[in-house]
Amino acid sequence: MHYTGTIWRPPYEAGSLIIEATAGCTHHKCKFCTLYEDLPFKFRPAPMEHIEADLLEAQTWFHDPLRRAEEELFGLSRTKVDRVFLAGANPFGLKAPHLLQIAELMHEHFPQCKSIGCFSRVTDIASKSDEELLRLAQGGFDGLTIGIETGDDGALSFMNKGYAAKDIVEQCQRLDAAGISYAFFYLAGISGEGRGLEGARATAAICNQTNPWLIGANMLTVYKSSELHRDIEAGRWAEESETEKYEELKELVGHLEVSVDFAMLGASNPVMLKGHLPDQREQLISALDAIITDIGEARLRDYRTNLRHL
Ligand code: SF4
Repeated sequence: MHYTGTIWRPPYEAGSLIIEATAGCTHHKCKFCTLYEDLPFKFRPAPMEHIEADLLEAQTWFHDPLRRAEEELFGLSRTKVDRVFLAGANPFGLKAPHLLQIAELMHEHFPQCKSIGCFSRVTDIASKSDEELLRLAQGGFDGLTIGIETGDDGALSFMNKGYAAKDIVEQCQRLDAAGISYAFFYLAGISGEGRGLEGARATAAICNQTNPWLIGANMLTVYKSSELHRDIEAGRWAEESETEKYEELKELVGHLEVSVDFAMLGASNPVMLKGHLPDQREQLISALDAIITDIGEARLRDYRTNLRHL
């Protein structure tokens, strides 16, 4: 398989066939981000012949008679590929005809594939016409994961995210109209010391105007090689404490009015949680409270400091 550098995928894509469509990130400017710093280039689309070769290789795994026997014996479903997840920071940034060509290859090699997902930036949606979004939905694109990070305009601007809160609402409403579902990644701690609650309320306000099926919260972890670390050293920005990040999450959960799954999964979360809003709001808030009181700042900070890699 042609995998370049570290491959990240959302936790809920664990059962998807992962095919590299791009490597790196078209934006590459978010102050806190160190995800693709090991690559010798900023962004690169995968050559179509690599994608095809990977699909052919994957066919041999999934059509392996031993695996079929395993499936029959243990009820596993490894011989079916229902969903493909395109690896890369933002494959949705590719132009629509390019994405449709990739979708055609997927369906040719895995006719039973029902949907294709990937990470997308808000700006990747903005770069496509309504008609292109409709054609992508018809081509199988569904279940995008969008790292909105926050609805706090001050934080979006300071962190160089490249869009404002109103753009999140506008672009997600265009996805809704095209019939493409999406999940959000939220980044607890992005608003900075003393501003977590305000950032959470601003985020809830924009989420309440959109229709994500899931809001996945990650927690800001500042690495020394990031631009944000240099800002902290120079006194231009200060981190929230770990407990402030959990207070922020309580505020977010408390203000979300949409029907949505809320999850804290992935390495940046020392404690993993999942629940549905609004019905499990109280349980989620109690669990977040218990993290603050039972685990406490020192142990949570210890986890953060020793987290070598996301
Ligand atoms: S868009 Fe995502 S991958 Fe790209 S720099 Fe920002 S956080 Fe990192």
